[in-house]
Amino acid sequence: MSVQNKKVKKGLSKSLFIKGLQCHKCLYLNKYSPELKDEITPQKLAMFASGTEVGLLAQQLFPGGIEVSYEGLSYAEQLGKTKYLIKKETKNIYEATFSHEGIFIKMDILHKGNDGWEIYEVKSSTEVKDVYYDDVALQYYVLSGCGLNISKAFLVHINNEYVRQGDIDVDQLFFIEDLTGEVIEKQNFVASEVLKMKEMLGTGEPVIDIGEHCSDPYDCEFIGHCWKHIPENSVFDFRGRGLNKFDLYRSGIVLMKDVPVDLLSPDQLMQLDGYLKKKNFFNEDAVREFLEELWYPISFFDFETSYMVPVPIFDGVRPYQQVPFQYSLHVQQKENGELKHFEYLARAGKDPRRELIEKLLNDLPKKSCVLAYNMSFEIGILNDLKSGFPEYEEKIDNIIANMRDLMIPFRSKAIYYWQMEGSYSLKKVLPALVPELNYEGMEVSDGAMASDSWLKMITMEDTQEIEKARKALLEYCGLDTLAMVKILKKIKEYFI
Ligand code: SF4
Repeated sequence: MSVQNKKVKKGLSKSLFIKGLQCHKCLYLNKYSPELKDEITPQKLAMFASGTEVGLLAQQLFPGGIEVSYEGLSYAEQLGKTKYLIKKETKNIYEATFSHEGIFIKMDILHKGNDGWEIYEVKSSTEVKDVYYDDVALQYYVLSGCGLNISKAFLVHINNEYVRQGDIDVDQLFFIEDLTGEVIEKQNFVASEVLKMKEMLGTGEPVIDIGEHCSDPYDCEFIGHCWKHIPENSVFDFRGRGLNKFDLYRSGIVLMKDVPVDLLSPDQLMQLDGYLKKKNFFNEDAVREFLEELWYPISFFDFETSYMVPVPIFDGVRPYQQVPFQYSLHVQQKENGELKHFEYLARAGKDPRRELIEKLLNDLPKKSCVLAYNMSFEIGILNDLKSGFPEYEEKIDNIIANMRDLMIPFRSKAIYYWQMEGSYSLKKVLPALVPELNYEGMEVSDGAMASDSWLKMITMEDTQEIEKARKALLEYCGLDTLAMVKILKKIKEYFI
């Protein structure tokens, strides 16, 4: 539908302005065709929820403020309430609401300082990103346009070195950075971008092709819509670095098979060859070298961890530190020997880490080779556990010293099956080597779902629901380590 047939909607908000800076088409689709957006993932929902939590905590930096809530108030009432609070020189206003030149904004915190009003924008990140300057600059633009005397503009963000002990200490959790100079410098830029966006919204859907802007600075929510003309096995499916995929696309090369081979790295050539000829590749010497590094008993091991959340959920935890809540361990004492399965899954109500590490130390046979898939992840978690529980430092160090990585032969391309499509993730390796074992139809089928499921499970009250969620989590994590058992068996069958 052309914009002529639609009611022209030139109004902007802070988030629409940021989307418009990334891509005019994204702004346009948000206004006129929001139904084309991709489905929101559980990770995104979790991110929104943690953003809200961070915003509320940051309000404690300016206690006693009055909120201009969305709920129960029309836009006009929110504007009216803000005006009233400003007139009364209210010291701290949360979610203050302004409108200027058709731009409607809600601000995190507005503080009345000695020299004028101060803007505080709150972000969950651990650093000041470029896009935040634009965000705060728009707020400055609107507030100045409304006639407010703005003395300072700040960004409040997470201090990733903070370690929780007891209640959250907001003075330690947050850093406050002064962006006033940069934000003032951006005022002409903001004015001209606002003008361009409004003109565009009044004309019609802009013709903008896909490009680097689709994921910079944010993953666009219209990828499914704008990218649907890209076929399977396109240049974008090449793994690894060094290939400018958008340059190729812009020059008319869309399919993998059409990419000049001299542009490809050895791994990408292998991917292409594998795809075109359904061919597998093996470096037998390298695989044997890898196998010689292993010894029995072998403990196939995998952690599941919580999302990286900005507000630490337990004492002794930093922002964005992943907390392990589950592990699966398949132990084989000797070649082709019986498999013993051990597992742990935290229950609600307390920090699971001590219980988890103590059970793990008990379950792991002494001097066992500990095999993980992408062991740097498991080592990172073990190192965190070591800092949290120094009394187990030596034992944890022993586990780390005995760790080997089943990913190595796949990452190094010593073993490459064409079905892996250039990837060496377990989710691609398993169906290629052990097609009879897969994650299809499972209620939890990846790490993000596991984290989401656990966070939901610990707030559940219905015992039947809890048991169902536990079963799904245990099945998923158990399959991860069983998959490793089967993969190693397959490798040995083939190469020994
Ligand atoms: S997917 Fe890319 S081209 Fe489409 S709206 Fe988003 S940023 Fe623009």
